[in-house]
Amino acid sequence: MGRLICISNRIPLGPNPSGGLVVALQDVLERTGGIWIGSAAETVEEPAETLTEVEGGPFRRLSFDLSADEKENYYAGHSNSMLWPLFHDRADLIEIRSEYYDAYRTVNRRIARLVATILKPDDRIWVHDFHLLPLAHELRALGAKNPVGFFLHTPFPTPLGLQAMPYGAELCHWLMEYDLVGLQAERDVVHAVGGMQLLGGAELQDDGRMRMGALSTRIAAFPIGIDTDDFARLAATQFDLLPQGIVKPTRQMMIGVDRLDYSKGLPQRFRAFGTFLERNEEWHRHVSLLQISPPTREGVKAYDAIRDELESLSGRVNGRFADITWQPIRYIHRPIPRDTLAGLYRAAHVGLVTPLMDGMNLVAKEFVAAQNPDDPGVLILSRFAGAAEQMEAALLVNPHDEQGVSDTILTALTMPRHERQERWELLMAGVQAQDVHWWSEAFLSALDGAVEGAVDRATQAEEPPQEAEAPTGAA
Ligand code: UDP
Repeated sequence: MGRLICISNRIPLGPNPSGGLVVALQDVLERTGGIWIGSAAETVEEPAETLTEVEGGPFRRLSFDLSADEKENYYAGHSNSMLWPLFHDRADLIEIRSEYYDAYRTVNRRIARLVATILKPDDRIWVHDFHLLPLAHELRALGAKNPVGFFLHTPFPTPLGLQAMPYGAELCHWLMEYDLVGLQAERDVVHAVGGMQLLGGAELQDDGRMRMGALSTRIAAFPIGIDTDDFARLAATQFDLLPQGIVKPTRQMMIGVDRLDYSKGLPQRFRAFGTFLERNEEWHRHVSLLQISPPTREGVKAYDAIRDELESLSGRVNGRFADITWQPIRYIHRPIPRDTLAGLYRAAHVGLVTPLMDGMNLVAKEFVAAQNPDDPGVLILSRFAGAAEQMEAALLVNPHDEQGVSDTILTALTMPRHERQERWELLMAGVQAQDVHWWSEAFLSALDGAVEGAVDRATQAEEPPQEAEAPTGAA
């Protein structure tokens, strides 16, 4: 079997890289002598036309350079200030600038050139996430005929949302150059198929593949999972290391763990908890919310705004309800190691996962995996997390409905043990069956199948590579 070449904006760093994606891909990378390619940690003045070997680690890693200007325009600009809000249904926050688009294309073209220098004919390529949407298009333009799959870790925008992008049609064309486009949830597949039909003029064929001219691709959902069994073991060990006040609590603890991102619904969550306290005085001093929200993408305007809003909201709820022995919201604005989180999830009675829009949300799955089977906590989960499609046994909520979330908090806090166990068993069975190993195997075998069903790339290569039209406003 050929090598697996994984390409993402960042490569897992350190001698023992961790995280779900690494756990999922390490095996196949090691087995096939595969390579993970991503951007270098530090920016340089003049990006090199070569890949750099990243020493150590269990599999081979290569990095590409970015200049400070590219980091600003390709990464912070096009990826985080344009595509991220667009893909999270926040077109009101997008910044459309031609310099963002230009840098995005330049960087993707350079990555394709660099990948082409190391590519062998039987390599399979797996491209990850919205930073690299045009990569297959650029690789095909250089003549690469290898199987190329793409996985989008975020939601896919609705056909209407896609029109907020000046080059939505071009984006659809980029996707057509992949053999397989993997999305997190069925709702994303519906959006992508609709968008590609509406904006790209693509057709959905009887065999389920999309066709646009000579191009054909398969779009399907592959909900990403976690390393469930390892995480469950970790939680049990870590729980015993927690301070006594948490292991033997005097009151119930709810936990929220989210990067400080506007897509996570944090102000709505704090307001819903405030509503709960206002309506349920008997719960005063008997419940607290531990919210862990490390900073992310600092310096991007929308992120600075959400930090200010949350600090003021937590201050307001605490100012109104706290007394000398009880602080309703404990808000931690720094990263907590995943190991410690595992123990904290197990100690919590309720997991509050209420994003306004989320590709998957791994915290929901980690919370379930971490529970004590004899006395499990309750998961409150937003319908707008991709995970909701697989986790119907959670208490599903609309995060915009603060009274509804407040009522659900009461249901969770008072749920009898037998119901908590029934729900947890259903949830855990799903999180175990569709873990991160299942996910990577499902994607890669679908990639092999998709290649077999695709139009022969050799025939396509006879046509000159198509350069999509430059977008309006992006010269
Ligand atoms: N996480 C962590 N420390 C923190 C906060 C989060 O290790 O302080 C981890 C968390 O355990 C989870 C991941 O970061 O594995 C967040 O993934 P999720 O899909 O929930 O959200 P994303 O940040 O990818 O939008």
